[in-house]
Amino acid sequence: MILFVINVKSSHWSLMLGEPKTKVMTYYDSLGRDGTKPFHQLREFLLKRFNSIGWQLQYPENIPQQENSYDCGVFVCEYARCLILHKPMKFSQDHMPHIRERIATELQSGVLLPAESATGNSATDAQVHKVPSQDQPAFTSKKCTKDIWETTELSNVTESSWERLPKFLQLVLPKGYTYMIEHIESLHSRDFIGAQTEPFNAQIRTSVTCRDEAQSWLKSMMDHNQCTYRVTRTYKPTMKRLLFRVDMHCQHQQKALSTKQLALKSSHTTKKGLASELRKKKTNCPSTLIMTVENSTKKLFRKCHNQSKVLHPTFVKLLFDHNHPIHSAHSLSFRSIAQQTKDIFFDLFRSGHSAATAWHTYESKLLLTSLNKTSMQRELADRTINPSRQDVCRLYDT
Ligand SMILES: [Zn+2]
Repeated sequence: MILFVINVKSSHWSLMLGEPKTKVMTYYDSLGRDGTKPFHQLREFLLKRFNSIGWQLQYPENIPQQENSYDCGVFVCEYARCLILHKPMKFSQDHMPHIRERIATELQSGVLLPAESATGNSATDAQVHKVPSQDQPAFTSKKCTKDIWETTELSNVTESSWERLPKFLQLVLPKGYTYMIEHIESLHSRDFIGAQTEPFNAQIRTSVTCRDEAQSWLKSMMDHNQCTYRVTRTYKPTMKRLLFRVDMHCQHQQKALSTKQLALKSSHTTKKGLASELRKKKTNCPSTLIMTVENSTKKLFRKCHNQSKVLHPTFVKLLFDHNHPIHSAHSLSFRSIAQQTKDIFFDLFRSGHSAATAWHTYESKLLLTSLNKTSMQRELADRTINPSRQDVCRLYDT
């Protein structure tokens, strides 16, 4: 159990309880405020400092609340005391004068009095809890917390099935492979509607062993997290060591037009031009992916690496920090048309359809087969399964 005392904008105190075993943080706020921001900050700290991942936030039920604007600090002390002593939180605003007096006595005498005295029960001469002296490490000291993480965390991170990955990695990495997380770093969340909640920079190994598997991993990844990556650079395989390597970037990577370029463009824009400018794709997104498949069958590789690395010969360096919404109709409309969809259109063309009638036929069918309104909206927006009329014309011409 770790207690974090939080100061909110130099005007309010609150408390976060962290439990490394269950990876749950519980936020105690005497004004009942939202704890998302301190949770994000603490989670980032834990990740950077102790490589600890997968934390979740929860709120306690019916905790005592302050009824004035100045007792938050006393509430925090009392929450902490009840948590440490495993006592129920049976106090209220009315008990604050007693609790203040008790804290003053404790500070002067250097001993903790039992919590019951707060609620008016006299127990001043009952059991006392000694305050840890200087040479005894308090449980929140750096050394102690680090030990907790070293034993409970890092050993789990070395090799992991998809099911055991933290939630934010499960949302990004495809199922059906095992992973080794070599390094992970949490990045600052961006501030716009639809921003991904947990951007990160990671170095991961996975159980992909050849070029074909690598390509199917990439496809599964893009289908799974719905981000489209384009090839930046490919490398010639040297069969001895390197089987496959590709550098990729998010399709939104290109730089946005400068204001000067925009002005020039709009000076002779048609209505259509303006509409296309609103559909902005170039956001200068920094997200990249580098995938390297090493030849694990070679003796040298086996000699240099341990068994886990031999089983995970593919190295993925993933910077997942998109500066645009991912799960929005706008983003989905930039995905690549799936081969399956193209084949359906080619069949329609062969059976005598023109581009226009093929598009109508296909879209009507899509509307009729959609399960419900939400899935229909999603399918209509997603270019992989619903290309635009212009796309269909282009397909017809090829
Ligand atoms: Zn992006």
